[in-house]
Amino acid sequence: MDDKERVYYTEHIKGLLSEYRFQHSINVSHQAVKLARIHGCDIHRAELAGLLHDVMKDVGKKEQLALMEQYGVKLSEIEQNAPKLWHAIAGAVYVKNVLHIGDEDVFNAIRYHTTGRAGMSLLEKIIYIADCTSEERNYKGVERICKLAVSDLDEVMAEALMDSLEKRLVDHTPMHPDTVEAYNEVILAKKKQ
Ligand code: FE
Ligand code: FE
Repeated sequence: MDDKERVYYTEHIKGLLSEYRFQHSINVSHQAVKLARIHGCDIHRAELAGLLHDVMKDVGKKEQLALMEQYGVKLSEIEQNAPKLWHAIAGAVYVKNVLHIGDEDVFNAIRYHTTGRAGMSLLEKIIYIADCTSEERNYKGVERICKLAVSDLDEVMAEALMDSLEKRLVDHTPMHPDTVEAYNEVILAKKKQ
């Protein structure tokens, strides 16, 4: 991302996000660049996707739904019942159709940053992990996860996905099939090692 783009998109998200979410987005962008350097991913895309990943998070749920409807997204029953997932889908739609960023990998990194999915690209994994290891995160065990993000991206994906599914079990909320498929993929890959 050149300086002009950085300023443009930073100002753009500032107008759409709360102060907290704005800082989170900056932090995720920085963390994504750091992880991209370490794991050999495109730095420009990592910075851009990190900055924009939560672009729709603070607009109203109605607006998120309207945007998805406008661009022909059909939500599954599980998605309809998981409003927290909407911002990822609406965000990807927004970045593609409103900001006219045509990069498919950036689209998918935003689209799947909450659920994950089987067959994630390197950029998708980096954004997923940058989101849970950004500077302001302070959950229990975050330091270990941050270290793992540097040393073993697939191992940290496995742990993050297990955590996510465990939460669904504890909360008695549905698991998104994309998360289950992502989990199965990393677990089967580990068994083969
Ligand atoms: Fe998010
Ligand atoms: Fe986020």
